[in-house]
Amino acid sequence: MAQHFQQQLLDELPEAVAIVGTGDYHKIVDVMQRVEKGDRVSLVSSEPTYIADETTPRYRTTSEGVAYLRIAEGCDYRCAFCIIPHLRGNQRSRTIESIVAEAKQLASEGVKEIILISQITTNYGKDIYGEPKLAELLRALGEVDVPWIRMHYAYPTGLTPQVVAAIRETHNVLPYLDLPLQHSHPEILRAMNRPFQAGINDAIVDRLKASIPGAVMRTTFIVGFPGETDEHAAHLLEFVKERQPTACQINYQQKKWKFGEMQSWRHNNLYH
Ligand code: SF4
Repeated sequence: MAQHFQQQLLDELPEAVAIVGTGDYHKIVDVMQRVEKGDRVSLVSSEPTYIADETTPRYRTTSEGVAYLRIAEGCDYRCAFCIIPHLRGNQRSRTIESIVAEAKQLASEGVKEIILISQITTNYGKDIYGEPKLAELLRALGEVDVPWIRMHYAYPTGLTPQVVAAIRETHNVLPYLDLPLQHSHPEILRAMNRPFQAGINDAIVDRLKASIPGAVMRTTFIVGFPGETDEHAAHLLEFVKERQPTACQINYQQKKWKFGEMQSWRHNNLYH
């Protein structure tokens, strides 16, 4: 909200004393000091570039044994349905050393499960190393004394043989794949501006199942995307029936897919 509607928020919320952007939260102490002096502060960088590291104090809101660990922020893709790049900026990754240092700190605090997060975890490192370095990161985290490392938001195209091998061979990396596929039909994937994914879902899912037997696969789909026909919907349905993800979240975008219909579609087709 602050990133997108800063002036409107200031105009319409006279009681708001400060507007701080998504890339500016590290300046919050300075903002509060200015507010205490009576200033009304608007601090919203148009292109967020900040990412917190292991030296940034943090207050964890998860339960004691679990912690999120941000490995990169922002996204270089521009999917048609997504506002994240506009709010969070382009991708910037932390170094492997910085992430491992924070993982060790978390382990020493009693954390048992570290959840790696970013917008595209499989693109981790591309901005600072010139190529994705997720496999190297996972292997480095294998040296940290924490029982479970869980990876969120992998993208199908980034699950290279090197990454798959790192998942399989690193003792504390869970065989858990969070793959937001969004759809199966190439035309809808193109309309979603996810051309990097069109036509390869089948092969990737099959390869993953063969490479990491027993892996849990969670995914998300968008149904009712503008332009989706019955044929596209049937394609998606067939894909889900054949590939059988372990867990599946469905978001829907058009009134055509009424909530009740959606619930019964999901119940009848995914969980039987
Ligand atoms: S890859 Fe993910 S974060 Fe990036 S634009 Fe697409 S949906 Fe948004």
